[in-house]
Amino acid sequence: MSDYCALCETRRPEGGTNHLVLKNDDGRVWIEFCEPCGKEEILTNAEGEEKSVYDIFWEGIAERDKNNA
Ligand SMILES: [Zn+2]
Repeated sequence: MSDYCALCETRRPEGGTNHLVLKNDDGRVWIEFCEPCGKEEILTNAEGEEKSVYDIFWEGIAERDKNNA
């Protein structure tokens, strides 16, 4: 299933969602989210830092691009 936001549980137009891959103790967790939900959903990392799903996603992209450069 693509383009379905797992946070607001609505189907989005094609390309309307992003996938954030998180690693936890059990392995990998995928969160599919639309932009408004991603900005509202706040996660706390191991350091106790609070960031939105949206910010974590884009930081991950930037990090990946930097590593590929
Ligand atoms: Zn949503």
